[in-house]
Amino acid sequence: MSQPVIQVEPLTTARALRGPFDYVRPDESVDVGSLLEVPFGRQRLQAVVTGLAEESEHRLVAPLKVLPDALPADLVDLGLWLGREYASTPARALSLMLPPRGAREKVQLWAELTADGDIALQSLDGSAGGRALRLTGKQEGLLQSLPRFAGTDLGSLRRLEARGFVRIGPRGMRRAPQHVAVGARKPPPVLNAEQAAAVDAITGAAPGDQLLLHGVTGSGKTEVYLRAAADTLARGRGVLILVPEIGLTPQMIDRFVTRFGDTVAVLHSKLGAGERYDEWRRLRSGEAMVCVGPRSAVFAPIERLGLVVVDEEHDGSYKNEGDPRYDARLVAEKRALQHGAVLVVGSATPRPESVHALRRVRLPHRVDGADMPPVEIVDLKGVHGAVAPRTHEALVDARKAIVLLNRRGWSNFLTCQSCGRVWECPHCDVALILHRDQGAVACHHCGHREAIPKTCPDCGSVSIARHGSGTERLEHDLAGLGKPVLRLDADVKDAGAVLAAFERSERAILVGTQVVAKGHDFPDVDLGVVLDADSTLRFPDFRAEERTFALVTQLAGRAGRGGHGRVIVQTIDPHASAIMYAARHDADGFLTEELERRELLRYPPFSTLIRIVCASEQPGAAHAAATEVQSRLPTSLGPAPLFRLRGKERSQVVVKAGDRRSAIEQVDAAVREISAFKTYKNVAFSVDVDPQ
Ligand code: ADP
Ligand code: ZN
Ligand code: ZN
Repeated sequence: MSQPVIQVEPLTTARALRGPFDYVRPDESVDVGSLLEVPFGRQRLQAVVTGLAEESEHRLVAPLKVLPDALPADLVDLGLWLGREYASTPARALSLMLPPRGAREKVQLWAELTADGDIALQSLDGSAGGRALRLTGKQEGLLQSLPRFAGTDLGSLRRLEARGFVRIGPRGMRRAPQHVAVGARKPPPVLNAEQAAAVDAITGAAPGDQLLLHGVTGSGKTEVYLRAAADTLARGRGVLILVPEIGLTPQMIDRFVTRFGDTVAVLHSKLGAGERYDEWRRLRSGEAMVCVGPRSAVFAPIERLGLVVVDEEHDGSYKNEGDPRYDARLVAEKRALQHGAVLVVGSATPRPESVHALRRVRLPHRVDGADMPPVEIVDLKGVHGAVAPRTHEALVDARKAIVLLNRRGWSNFLTCQSCGRVWECPHCDVALILHRDQGAVACHHCGHREAIPKTCPDCGSVSIARHGSGTERLEHDLAGLGKPVLRLDADVKDAGAVLAAFERSERAILVGTQVVAKGHDFPDVDLGVVLDADSTLRFPDFRAEERTFALVTQLAGRAGRGGHGRVIVQTIDPHASAIMYAARHDADGFLTEELERRELLRYPPFSTLIRIVCASEQPGAAHAAATEVQSRLPTSLGPAPLFRLRGKERSQVVVKAGDRRSAIEQVDAAVREISAFKTYKNVAFSVDVDPQ
């Protein structure tokens, strides 16, 4: 064998343990990407082959087992890069690439006629029938039923096989996701001039080019993706389409499947394990060449990618919350570069980062020719309650309205009016939120719940005050307007049913958290309301302006399709520039100012931020560890205490760096060293590159 040694990364979550480790290569079929089970110390671990070698300085053992479904080599490279880029480990990163677990291929027997079988079948039509061939009635029927063998009478089939009349074999069955309407196709609409120019820009782009499709809501961006995808398929290359989890609606999937049929594979969390595995296999084998899916679909095993699309690129769901804390937008860019594919990111509210880095193609008009709805800013100074009189009036007049309030539950917090007690989560330093529907107060961070208090445990008083209001209370309050009120937030079980009911109704108010501003198309909404623009604006984060602008603009995109409609934004700061720009539909003005501000303050894209959080149940340990981390990183800020979460004290250090690569390496080295100290064995370290 030319290269008898394999370099292997055992899949363990331990931060300290990093390969590659050398093993004996069992045979030529084991190559980069092969999945194995290897002996590792006293354990038996799943592992990925990341390289081959001529020799090793160690005494080697062989793997225990070669597993099916090898990874393509480009995903191995991607995993190793991802582990470095997010200061995680190769093993944790490679684990993201594995085929969906918990299901293997479903195998059914198939049988087909041999040449002899065919002759036998024809002779059955003769007068002698099956008796001349000495076939039983069952065998005769079976022979005639081929190739549609249902797999019931294996005995008879085996006897036909013994006579040489049929061949039998196992065959993989595809468990097709329900929405897949196999083969159905529709003629596409005629593109308008702006769309045609956008399609030309994409199909004419050089390999590795990156474009930003900046198009207002309803400007026909998806149609542009579809045309570009068709062009890519015609050149024999694959297509990856990433959408926010919430945007992966049946309509979206339908648009791709009706255009391209069976070559579309869909990967998302609502599929069963078997379905997901089969879709993965169809991509891996090249049977499917288009993958549509959320964040994790960026790892879809498509071999020769020609086009990578990130739809609604401003959406927060592209960032992974567990370690490795990868950003699918950056991973998509890396994959496109690996394959020489064209990258297209699209949004009505692109990130300043993308505007700064990418060539921009615009779709400034809606396909239906309608203008953007007028946006009115309502000053909340002097207003009592959640809804200003102006807004109330507009809600009375509206036929169909969407009202956005970014707080779930009935009220924000409870206090005892006698002694001032505030009800807090016993595990986290945050107030408990009242959920009247559920008869409970709950922590929105750890899920802790208690019964609604009737008396104060400290002083026995029965006067308990409820402060502020959330979506549940708003739903209740707005019911007085005489229109049906529907609610959509994370507490609602069947979001699809709520959206369908809203779509059907002639007059209604849809109340909800940010989800109401995302990815749903209702043609006849005539009012959009943002009740608390300040909740995103006051958030202590450099992205607060960007988020507020996006929220107002996205909601405006939902209201007034077809040219009738308006938007109201309530705020205590009517001169906040993010709100003023959104009210004027001036994305360019906002982006220019925002980029200037970020450059001045050295925020991304003019620097890289890395956040290190230390957490521990042991009092003082998180702070001590963070102090140690900070002392190793000269340009870092902190340690700064964070609120206690799930019983753990937390402390964070933030690095703001000009040189991304070296900053990531320094943080990784520091955290690796400190986390190995015995003093900090009760401390969990988490590193977040480009925190959101
Ligand atoms: P976006 O993704 O920019 O919000 P969509 O691609 O969803 O916009 O387009 C909005 C609607 O307009 C969709 O129903 C789509 O089918 C339709 N549409 C898109 N392009 C055209 C076109 N050129 N002619 C007619 N209808 C179109
Ligand atoms: Zn009290
Ligand atoms: Zn809690």
